[in-house]
Amino acid sequence: MIKSINPYNQEIVYEVAEFDRKDIENAIDKADAQYAIWKEIPFSERSVLMQAAGQELRKNSREYAEVITLEMGKPITQALAEVEKCAALCDYYAENASKMLADKIIETEVHKSYVSYEPIGIVLAIMPWNYPFWQVMRFAVPALMAGNVAVLKHASNVMKSAMSIEKIFDRAGFPVGCFTNLPIGSKMVEEVIKHPKIKAVTLTGSEAAGRAVAAVAGNEIKKTVLELGGSNALVVFADCNLQKTVKTCVQARFQNAGQSCIAGKRLLVESSIAEEFTKAFIEEVGKLRAGDPLSEETTIGTMARVDLAEELEKQLQDALDKGGEVLLGGKRNKAYFEPTVIGNVTTDMSIFKEEVFGPLIGITTFMDEKEAIALSNNSPFGLGVTIFTEDFEKAFRLVPKFNEGAVFVNELVKSDQRLPFGGTKNSGYGRELSQDGIQEFVNKKTVYIN
Ligand code: NAP
Repeated sequence: MIKSINPYNQEIVYEVAEFDRKDIENAIDKADAQYAIWKEIPFSERSVLMQAAGQELRKNSREYAEVITLEMGKPITQALAEVEKCAALCDYYAENASKMLADKIIETEVHKSYVSYEPIGIVLAIMPWNYPFWQVMRFAVPALMAGNVAVLKHASNVMKSAMSIEKIFDRAGFPVGCFTNLPIGSKMVEEVIKHPKIKAVTLTGSEAAGRAVAAVAGNEIKKTVLELGGSNALVVFADCNLQKTVKTCVQARFQNAGQSCIAGKRLLVESSIAEEFTKAFIEEVGKLRAGDPLSEETTIGTMARVDLAEELEKQLQDALDKGGEVLLGGKRNKAYFEPTVIGNVTTDMSIFKEEVFGPLIGITTFMDEKEAIALSNNSPFGLGVTIFTEDFEKAFRLVPKFNEGAVFVNELVKSDQRLPFGGTKNSGYGRELSQDGIQEFVNKKTVYIN
């Protein structure tokens, strides 16, 4: 059995029997049979179903949000926002997919030459627990609109979310086999990737999982998209709007209890305002309200699992051993970790070098632009960075200097369905969302008619 445990009170939320080989084989066969039908269905019909999925999410948003909150400890208000965001994604691709995948005429000397965008078959998604609905929908919605079918291996601690997402597509009227949940642990993943009917793989998760999955898929010559970890810097220049910057930095680090790939994880502050900024930042972090994640009052939940909070504690200890100073928080109770701010952070500390996947942030100061850029780029990850400055000319000048998948100015790095999303370096490759996302899992067929 695979179990979901509520990290707030350690109660079992859900149990599901793991699929054995025969169950997996049956599910993949059904998905493949459906693919033969689904790929022929016109965009207009797929759009109607996708709009229905959006409506289903909105109609039963509370039901779905509670599943998220109970399984991984996210405050209910943030879980509701996640469900709403999924619904908007359904609307977006329902409206735009056919335009995004329309034939692209390319003028040559012959009668007609163009590119057509055709589906490829079953795409396997291996997904994390941190945004248990959004991460899945971000892949599944464009994949289905492109004419592919989707098979999901969700994180083991959010199998009720996985089952619920399958229910959404079912309730919306999608034929059986369009979206299939496989309740399996990570040990079975290799066999699934190798299955001849699986045509491509997308993984959102840790660097370690990305390496393992990409190695197997690479050997099978199956395409992968990898959305892995991040260690985004928040670069605060002296010429920022201090009040706004403080608020944005707190949100960037502490929403979802810090468990977001694109969270701002390293706070880099120009020395001349470091004291003033740090004081205001600590005050703002102190306003976060812990409590029952099901309460509307709670603004910071528990971490998703006790072992993750223990891991964070080790990273904190490493920082303290190397001269870091606790400015706020620092204590853990089971899966709850206090919002924590560490001063005197240097580049040799784990909290600078590694991904910190929880409500803890370290502050490092810099003297000038050059040092700020060097510190920001001094990371094995490259998902994104936020710079805070009121000087737009400076911002435009600095953008190309960051080795990142995204540079945001005066705003936390966030996903927006209209914009491509993805990383560089060990944060992975490929893009999700926007036209780039829907074109990842298609055959870009060249047609040449003389
Ligand atoms: P994880 O441990 O890597 O798990 C992600 C998924 O991969 C789960 O379904 C997991 O299954 C599976 N998995 C783990 N090891 C595997 C292996 N060796 N072979 C096949 N599958 C494997 O990550 P997580 O703890 O759930 O999520 C946190 C990580 O995800 C962070 O590093 C975060 O930055 C990253 N993330 C990235 C993005 C992005 O868009 N770039 C977004 C969100 C999160 P089990 O649960 O069964 O082990």
